[in-house]
Amino acid sequence: MSASEVFENSRKILGRIGIATVYRNLRILLDDGWLTVVSLPGEPNRYEKAGKGHHHHFVCHGCQRVFEVAVCASDLRRMTPSGFQMERHEVVLWGRCAECAE
Ligand SMILES: [Zn+2]
Ligand SMILES: [Zn+2]
Repeated sequence: MSASEVFENSRKILGRIGIATVYRNLRILLDDGWLTVVSLPGEPNRYEKAGKGHHHHFVCHGCQRVFEVAVCASDLRRMTPSGFQMERHEVVLWGRCAECAE
């Protein structure tokens, strides 16, 4: 979730809460290592629980939500030029989630 999504969800549960409180608590949870930043091209930073297994993200253009994608592209090694050593990769899918695609 982005900070504004956390803010909206917190407001539904807690009622009155300020965006500064959301940012302050996100910072605390990041510092504690409980949260990690999800940085996607052209997107505001999002936050997810730290320590999850390898996964990617799907950005929905309809509702602006970001979903986890558990599978990974299988032919990334073939994309790597001969003699190069790939150390990490990012895969981001954009489109419409099942709800928005209806
Ligand atoms: Zn959607
Ligand atoms: Zn992957």
